[in-house]
Amino acid sequence: MGTKLNYIAGEWVPALSGATREITNPANGEVIAVVAEGDVADARAAIAAAKKSFYDTGEWRRMDVQVRADIMFKVASLMEEAADELARLDTIDNGKPLREAEGDVDDAIHCFRYYAGYITKPAGETYDVNTNFGDMHSYTVHEPTGVCAQITPWNYPLLMAAWKLAPALAAGNSVVFKPSTLTPLSTIKLFEIFEAAGIPAGAANLVMGGGPTVGAELAANPDVDMVTFTGSTEVGRSIMTAAAGNIKKIGLELGGKSPNVIFADADLTGAVEWAMIGIFFNQGEVCSAGSRIIIEESFKDEFVQALVKKAAAMTIGDPLDNPDMGPLISESHMNRVLGYIQQGIDEGATVAYGGKRLTDGDLAAGYYVQPTIFTDCTSDMTIVREEIFGPVVTIQTFTTEQEAIALANDTIYGLAGAVFTADITRALRVIKEIRAGITWVNCYNPTYNEAPWGGYKQSGIGRELGKYGLEEYQEVKQININLSPGAVGWYEN
Ligand code: NAD
Repeated sequence: MGTKLNYIAGEWVPALSGATREITNPANGEVIAVVAEGDVADARAAIAAAKKSFYDTGEWRRMDVQVRADIMFKVASLMEEAADELARLDTIDNGKPLREAEGDVDDAIHCFRYYAGYITKPAGETYDVNTNFGDMHSYTVHEPTGVCAQITPWNYPLLMAAWKLAPALAAGNSVVFKPSTLTPLSTIKLFEIFEAAGIPAGAANLVMGGGPTVGAELAANPDVDMVTFTGSTEVGRSIMTAAAGNIKKIGLELGGKSPNVIFADADLTGAVEWAMIGIFFNQGEVCSAGSRIIIEESFKDEFVQALVKKAAAMTIGDPLDNPDMGPLISESHMNRVLGYIQQGIDEGATVAYGGKRLTDGDLAAGYYVQPTIFTDCTSDMTIVREEIFGPVVTIQTFTTEQEAIALANDTIYGLAGAVFTADITRALRVIKEIRAGITWVNCYNPTYNEAPWGGYKQSGIGRELGKYGLEEYQEVKQININLSPGAVGWYEN
């Protein structure tokens, strides 16, 4: 098995130290690839390449915008040709069911198309300004920010890469990208596609390696103009601190503990299915997961009974066979999730379903955990307060709308949330009160390239996707042109 390399200044190169890392399939623990394991020196080399690309040669940022857009469209077309391979890579690397990986690939392709198209559309504004200093033409232009470092997690390897790389590159930035150490394979393929599509050397650089080494260097290095990060709130905090050195622009997409508020008048089967999509999709390894169900007391028994029945019927197994759930990402993450489950039991919550690792037959070689439903939960419990990032949902009850809203907002996070009710005015009233960036009514988790994604409170800073996602990677320049050159007469003597 040949080592997959870093991509720096248009060359595929081993780590400067020669170090490598084995990548394993969480379904069975088998080694599926060996990749370069970069360090601080590799990060610096990639930053230098991006700096040269942006500030010296300027080939990518100055490129005719239609030609740049054409290259981005070509990236999307080549991704489409490689769609089966990309989906398979994310499935064996991350453990997500194949049909979910196929959905991610489709979204990622359209993300590149969306920004390829967007970059040729009008941007900036003109202003009518006062004539105190003469007749002026005042307007704004959008320009790329510069050298952008981007760091992503393991739960949506290709999709998180697309959400960052598509807008940053479309805008004309030069980029250094670091994927999670656990899931680099689809990103390596994406960079092969960048090369084939004609993105110039140095405009897009890939450095694989650890968070505390490569990641921390990207966040701190003074030659980086902007750092965008998707991952845990804890690491996000350290990125923010490191970025302060040269006042980098930052974008942070962090953790969540999102409320799913269900009123008694909601459609039962709909609410149950969406609740499952909310918490069991991608094994619950979803930042926006509806991990806290907050349900009207009178509806609870009926709802829990239906949810348990559906959870018990879920298929779990090798993600290439398209079960409802695959394995968790790693043994250590599985143990962390099982630790939370034990803590929930110890703190007095009731396991209505699940709670155990699955080890029957072939499952023993992977990191499989049952879908897990906790009832009798209270706000002070660790399983209600902390992000578990697995297929574990807590259920709390309320009797009044005010109580539901208070429970929903009782969290340090503010990424997402949903309301289920047949009463449209109540839906609008409650959703307006939920302090979160992404919200749904009578559904959970649909996400669109056209609409902004990001969190309130400790779930992050900034937005990805849509027009906001492009503007994150742009500076706004104000230009004032004096239409009557000559003396103004301010200093008359
Ligand atoms: P993580 O924070 O451990 O790691 C994310 C990335 O940061 C990885 O590439 C890692 O190598 C790197 N990293 C680790 N330490 C670093 C450091 N000191 N400096 C710089 N980089 C460092 O997160 P994870 O376990 O990979 O992913 C799970 C987390 O991601 C969850 O908290 C989840 O909610 C969050 N997430 C958020 C969103 C969102 O859009 N808000 C989307 C997906 C995942």
